[in-house]
Amino acid sequence: MVVTRFAPSPTGYLHIGGLRTALFSYLWAKKNGGKFVLRIEDTDKARNSNEATQAILEAFAWLGLEADGDITYQSKRSDIYAKYIKQLLDEGKAYKCYMSREELDTLRETQMANKERTKYDGKYRDFKGTPPEGVEPVIRIKAPISGEIIVHDGVKGDVVFQAEDILDDFVIARADGSPTYNFVVAIDDALMGINEVIRGDDHLSNTPKQIVVYEALGFDIPKFYHVPMIHNQQGKKLSKRDGATDVMEYKAMGYLPEALLNFLVRLGWSHGDQEIFSMDEMKALFDPKDINKSASIYNTEKLDWLNAHYIKNTPNDELVELLLDFDIVLTSHDKKEILLDALKERAKTLKELATLSREVITTPSEYDAKAVKKAFKGNAFEVLENFAAKLNAADTLHLPADYHHVMESVVNEMEIGFGKIGNPLRVALLGKMSGPGLDAVMAILGRDETLLRIQNAIKANAN
Ligand code: GLU
Repeated sequence: MVVTRFAPSPTGYLHIGGLRTALFSYLWAKKNGGKFVLRIEDTDKARNSNEATQAILEAFAWLGLEADGDITYQSKRSDIYAKYIKQLLDEGKAYKCYMSREELDTLRETQMANKERTKYDGKYRDFKGTPPEGVEPVIRIKAPISGEIIVHDGVKGDVVFQAEDILDDFVIARADGSPTYNFVVAIDDALMGINEVIRGDDHLSNTPKQIVVYEALGFDIPKFYHVPMIHNQQGKKLSKRDGATDVMEYKAMGYLPEALLNFLVRLGWSHGDQEIFSMDEMKALFDPKDINKSASIYNTEKLDWLNAHYIKNTPNDELVELLLDFDIVLTSHDKKEILLDALKERAKTLKELATLSREVITTPSEYDAKAVKKAFKGNAFEVLENFAAKLNAADTLHLPADYHHVMESVVNEMEIGFGKIGNPLRVALLGKMSGPGLDAVMAILGRDETLLRIQNAIKANAN
């Protein structure tokens, strides 16, 4: 069974790169009928926060990425790590190192002066003497001194590391007994049965060290997939300015979970030239062997395009619910169907949809000066008065087409072009030149509100 995981360190909000590897891991587990588990790597007491853990869980809930089984917290597993440290010491695969800070510094300086790679020199590796007093030892693992460590990576192919270039007997437990990062990651992945690790390629340099731990403890080494980073349009690592912000900010900006997930799955993975993927399709099609070997480019227009697609395809009753978060209450608006049908084609985000809705359902309190100048000229008020009179007298006014007929009768009777009524009417109803189709706007407003807005506009702009 394929078991994947997401292992965030709760030091800040969940960002887009983290979420992408979480999604890849989730999809790969689901595709294989396997498990996707969540491990919170909260051993760095100084930098971790409970809020950050909560923010990760909140983002997962919003996106519908459900982890299987209980969440594992590294902070609760000290006993397990201690047991394996002891095991390695007992087996002679790890040892106590009494080198003091000063000694280490001196060693480093000498190596630097000799233009050598700075590393621990193995002084206590086979130490048999009496340890110096007053130094709390750290525990170091006996790493291979020579030979190759090969990471069989599902994205990058075999990545070969020369042990002597990268390894020293790295510390697995600090002087206070606390275990170190690469040590606990390997133990947790092994004990949690993780057999496929999908993570950012910023972790690739950790992998040989983790392999040393797996081997020392006799654990099976998982399959690794190191996913290239997400870059901005300038080819640089994604930063806050590019949108690498808290995932929940995307919710606040009015992005739908489906759109964000679809956007993310295409960042570094492709399936032919298909762009739109439902969750079911992603689960059926995702395969890490199709992850791109080069960095992917973050592109806001693409995200907007996908979001517009998903908004357009969201049923109106769901949009009504979603708009509540943006202070638009359409729940008992009798024309909400016409309103949303007219507007959802035009909105890239829910926030925009809310703004467009607000512009229609709120009586304008001011009028755009340029629009007024352009629209309220010549006999514009006369046209509006005529339209208002006909509207007043009309029998059925329900659908957009009913309002269109009234406009048509004014155009025919006065022998004017549609613009001569359309422009002033638009400014009267919406306070500006842009907006959705007028027929729909009037059908949404109904006769009374339409008449009221026309009278208001004439009053406010007649001078
Ligand atoms: N905790 C690490 C991070 O947040 C991820 C560890 C891993 O995926 O192996 O970057």
